[in-house]
Amino acid sequence: MPELPEVEHVVRALRRVVVGRTIVASEIRLRKLIGEMSPTTFDRKIRNAAITGVSRRGKFILIECQKPDRQGGQRSRAKGRVETHLVLAVHLRMTGKFLYLAADDELPKHSHAVFYLDNDRRLVFRDQRQFGIMRLLPASKLHQTKGIVELAPEPFGDEFTIDYLRDVLKRSERTLKTLLLDQTKVLGLGNIYAAEALFRAGISPFTIAAKLSKPKTARLHGEIRDVLGFAVDHIRGSIKLEQGFSYGAAFESFWQVYDREGEPCVNCGTKIRRTTQGGRSTYWCPKCQRK
Ligand SMILES: [Zn+2]
Repeated sequence: MPELPEVEHVVRALRRVVVGRTIVASEIRLRKLIGEMSPTTFDRKIRNAAITGVSRRGKFILIECQKPDRQGGQRSRAKGRVETHLVLAVHLRMTGKFLYLAADDELPKHSHAVFYLDNDRRLVFRDQRQFGIMRLLPASKLHQTKGIVELAPEPFGDEFTIDYLRDVLKRSERTLKTLLLDQTKVLGLGNIYAAEALFRAGISPFTIAAKLSKPKTARLHGEIRDVLGFAVDHIRGSIKLEQGFSYGAAFESFWQVYDREGEPCVNCGTKIRRTTQGGRSTYWCPKCQRK
C-alpha cells in the first residue's frame, strides 16, 4: 500500500504532466469506482474541464478542475448555480495507480478510468484489487467530505505542532504505535513510517500515548517530520507515470527497523524484534526502544 511519501510523489508526477491540460472526455469502466454517480453524469460534469492543479489531503490525491463558465468567465458559486470549480479526489488504497499513456499505447488490464486529454494523451487509473476510490465533487464540498473532514492536520503544515501532538497523546490510553496509525489523530504515518519514527526517537511502540513525557513528545514530533521528509526526498525521480512503479521499493534500503526482524540494530547490534499490534506487524529494537 502506498504511504504518504509515495502519494506525495504521485501528486508531483501528475502535476508535471496534467496541469494546464483539458479533459476532453472520460470513460469509467468500473462503475463502483466513482460511488453513486453514473458514468454518464460523471462524464458530463468533467468533460471540457481544464486541470488547474494537483494537490493532496492525507492520501487523497486532489485533481482540481475548472469548467468553462458560460457567464463570461466569472465563477458562479452562488446558490442555485452550477459550480464550475470541481475536484476529482482519488485514493489509491492498495493497488491504485495512475498511468500517462500515448494515444496508441495499449490500455493495460484493470484500467478502470480513462481521461482523454487535449494533447492526445490519456490519463489512466488502473487498480488490480479494486479498492481505489474516485469522487468528483464541487470544490466547496471537498472539506465536508467523509474520509477527508476527519483527517488530522498535515504533518508538514503549521497546525501540526509539538503542542498539537502532546494534546492528542495526552487524551489517549492506546499504545503509541496504534495511535500513530490513526489518521484522524496523527496524519501521514503508515505501518512503515510509524515503526521508523519510533525507532529514530528511541521510544517503545508499546508506550501508552498519555504517558509519553514532554521531551520525548517533542522528539517524536521531530522524527515524524524527519522520517516523512526523508522518504519524500529519497523517492525523488523514481515515479514515472509512463511505466507505473512499485510502491516502497525505491527506498527499502533506508528502513532501519521495518521488515528487519532478526537483523542487528543499526545502533546497538541487538536483534530487531517483531510482534503484532492491532493486526499489524510492529518492529522494534528492545534495547534502543525501552519502555
Ligand atoms: Zn538498538
